[in-house]
Amino acid sequence: MFEEFLLSKGMVGTFAIAAGGNFLRYCLFASLGYLLFYIIMKQRWQHMKVQSAAPGRKQLLREFLLSVMAFCIFGLEAIIVFHPAILPYTQFYFDIHQHSMAWLGCSILLMIVIHDAYFYWMHRLLHSRLLYRTTHATHHTFNNPSPWAGYAFHPIEAIFEGGIIFVFAFDFPVHPLALFVFVLWSSFFVVGGHLGYEVYPKWLTNSKVGFYLNTSTNHNMHHKYYRGNYALYFRWWDIGFNTTHKEYYKTLEEIQQRTASMKQNPQSAALNP
Ligand SMILES: [Zn+2]
Ligand SMILES: [Zn+2]
Repeated sequence: MFEEFLLSKGMVGTFAIAAGGNFLRYCLFASLGYLLFYIIMKQRWQHMKVQSAAPGRKQLLREFLLSVMAFCIFGLEAIIVFHPAILPYTQFYFDIHQHSMAWLGCSILLMIVIHDAYFYWMHRLLHSRLLYRTTHATHHTFNNPSPWAGYAFHPIEAIFEGGIIFVFAFDFPVHPLALFVFVLWSSFFVVGGHLGYEVYPKWLTNSKVGFYLNTSTNHNMHHKYYRGNYALYFRWWDIGFNTTHKEYYKTLEEIQQRTASMKQNPQSAALNP
């Protein structure tokens, strides 16, 4: 049914679904993060802020406009991959019973793990001399990003970022429902990484599994220092290839300590990191 719907709507319909869908999920996650952390709880949660300064309106507008442009590029990539001439060569399947429910779950996990590796190595490449100035520097103009910065890319970087859809399309069977769940997962981490507030408690990041989770501190430091902390969802590539910023653990500890002090004694906690 979804396949027929997609084909019946043509290229304009595919573009609208892909670009519009990406825009809606971005607005949902980024506005929730912004409203909660930068407006409603701004003062009360200041102790969790990685960098004390708040982004100005000009920055927010630029983050938003660049993100909208990226979604248009994602929409164009969707036109290619869902084009009637290309679609039969992909491994997308639209009848959920064509593969087991276990596969549906596995395909989501596979997309997360593959995208995590894809992003890390793409990100390392974007930091090469060849590509940094012409592409990735745009994303790095925000050295203290807000939740609206998650998709604020140079158009060439947006092509690379959206290119993951081609990896999924041709490598293993993917149902639109799995893709939808994956996109929600991805949005959570992308907006979380640019939130600028450390929300993970110490017990979580000190646990065996939580230690490998990417944190908002981690990605904020990447924007602040330009080098190190290239991870997206998990930090294992950074750990394995020794690209964790040397100040990361100390910075994370300091922010989590402020939060712990705040809980114990709200009056004594330092408000300005
Ligand atoms: Zn970067
Ligand atoms: Zn970023």
